[in-house]
Amino acid sequence: MAERPVVISGGKGTEIWDDRGNKYLDANSSIWTNLHGHQHPKINKAISDQLGRISHSSALGLANEPSAMLAEGLVKASNPSWVKRSGQAGLEKVFYSDDGSTAIETALKMAYEHQRRSLGIKSPRFISMDGGYHGDTIGGVSLGKAGMFHDSFRGLCFKTEKFMSPACYRCPFNKAKPERADGRDYRKCNWECVDDFSSKLDSAKKSGKPITSVIVEPLMQGAAGMIAQPKGWLKRIGQIAKEGGVQIIADEVMTGFGRTGILNHAGKERRSTKVATSPSLFAIHAEGIQPDFLCLAKGMTGGYLPMAATLTTQGVFDSFLGDYEELKTFFHGHSYTGNQLGSAASLASLSLCESEKSIKRRKQLEQLMSEELKGLWDLDVVGDIRQEGLVAGIELVRDWKTREAYDWREKAGVLICQSMATMGVMTRPVGNVIVLMPPYCTTDSQLRKMVRVMRKAIRETLT
Ligand code: PMP
Repeated sequence: MAERPVVISGGKGTEIWDDRGNKYLDANSSIWTNLHGHQHPKINKAISDQLGRISHSSALGLANEPSAMLAEGLVKASNPSWVKRSGQAGLEKVFYSDDGSTAIETALKMAYEHQRRSLGIKSPRFISMDGGYHGDTIGGVSLGKAGMFHDSFRGLCFKTEKFMSPACYRCPFNKAKPERADGRDYRKCNWECVDDFSSKLDSAKKSGKPITSVIVEPLMQGAAGMIAQPKGWLKRIGQIAKEGGVQIIADEVMTGFGRTGILNHAGKERRSTKVATSPSLFAIHAEGIQPDFLCLAKGMTGGYLPMAATLTTQGVFDSFLGDYEELKTFFHGHSYTGNQLGSAASLASLSLCESEKSIKRRKQLEQLMSEELKGLWDLDVVGDIRQEGLVAGIELVRDWKTREAYDWREKAGVLICQSMATMGVMTRPVGNVIVLMPPYCTTDSQLRKMVRVMRKAIRETLT
């Protein structure tokens, strides 16, 4: 018999509650969207102030104030001063859409047409990371490499290439025996995953059909199972792409707006932005790479409204400029593009993300999360714990010494999350990986409770 779903009727801060009066901590930030908590007074006010002016008017051929101001804020936030010094092109232009999938579709179509028109490439080709997930529209599915989500729709898709994901814990090239630590920290390999990327580019070039765009989920692949990248991977991939004239699409639908943190996974302040007090809000910047396309959604509005943005360079923008008769317009536009309510919420969220108070708190929370998660290592069924900023994946295995995975039919992740919900902590697994992604307003005691409950659920259910 079908179970009655939990019916959420309210929320405040990190707490959500259902219509039966049960309270839960929102430990996955409402499927990775919420940044500053529910009913944040500043975001609520921004939306209701905007509601008193206008909720929506078309942005096709028209402009509006909040979306123009937001574009200015996003451009500023996504171009730290080192970008110019490094000689990489800045992200100067913003195109709005509705969600993560449409942010990706936009980048895909812009890259394709720009490369044909301005770079003289007949058939632009794309390459994605193994396990990659970029949304459920057909462009996103074509770029996707996660069997369960994508395989049944292959017949509808266009062909894209795939390269190895740096999934250290399960990497066939990693010679290290399992340890009680993040698999990235004790890996023994020779960056075979990076070689795989170069050789895929090389052989495509030799075949006369070069790969011209690469899409990455920087620092952490979400739907692949919270697969976090070892330090140095992003820089290597970015440099190889740039040297080979391959455009980079950064899918920061999950990672954007500070989610992957101020500290690196070893707990040290990220240095690449050089300005410790105002770290970049984007994961791709952690290793000094500026992409050609930056796709943002989920947390952009603070997780309040569906809205997305695709940022790109002046060069790409110029490919769509011309006389009316030339029909060079980017013929792609959504009804709700540049929506005022979403823009107002996003402006409020961006200013919270950039505030000293939030930066300081996120740093403390990251540290606390890493301390608390260490307490899970004494459970034999915890195989890997991968944390980047305020997102972590805890991988469950039959035995940490063998890394043997639970069969998906055993629903190990689902059972743990169901048990956690009965103890007042709500999250969703990705297969056998439990996701911990608290809103930035989470208190110390709430965070401790999330980990304590996870530990109890694992112990009672699996050991
Ligand atoms: N890209 C990534 C990395 C995502 O995690 C997601 C959603 N989980 C998407 C794209 C698609 O976003 P949406 O569900 O808003 O369409």
